[in-house]
Amino acid sequence: MTVLETKSGNKVTAEQWRAISESDKSYDDQFYYAVKTTRIFCRPSCKSRVPNIANVTVFYHAEDAIKAGYRPCKRCKSGGYRLPDEEWILQAEAYIKENFATYLTLDVIADGCHGSPYHLHRVFKRINGITPLEYLHQIRMDKAKKYLRQTDKTISEIAALVGNANAAHFATSFKKRTNQSPKEYRNNHKSEVLQNETQ
Ligand SMILES: [Zn+2]
Repeated sequence: MTVLETKSGNKVTAEQWRAISESDKSYDDQFYYAVKTTRIFCRPSCKSRVPNIANVTVFYHAEDAIKAGYRPCKRCKSGGYRLPDEEWILQAEAYIKENFATYLTLDVIADGCHGSPYHLHRVFKRINGITPLEYLHQIRMDKAKKYLRQTDKTISEIAALVGNANAAHFATSFKKRTNQSPKEYRNNHKSEVLQNETQ
């Protein structure tokens, strides 16, 4: 039996890896595979994107995957039940919080949460009152404000740290949401700190 060693030291057999890669339904009752980057576990037949083998851990029982901190998949119902929408949206929020600094689109987020972009957008908005992308922007703005207040990093450095490759675009979007440019926000806040210190 060929055993493929993954980075995490977990062993996935060549046969299991083939079943995962080909979404082979005949293996569904034999094992589950969990993916470190998404924290979701799936049945071999799941139609979700084939993960990087280095991030895969195999479990023989769904309960073991859950105990190890993995979440059931909405698409293949790996938890043995239909994942409640509320739970799925918590997954999406966690995914966005973990990945806000990287390039994210609705498609990328939906892919990471194993659902369709349309469905994610609709359910997220129904539960949270805002769309996944609005949620992402809020998180990015909050992080950016924190960097502006607490560090001396340049605007382009901060833009990059919050997932905006384009600093000008970041500044425009910041101003639209806060009515201040990043620089103004920083200056206003610094004078506030100064006032508090001299009181
Ligand atoms: Zn799945």
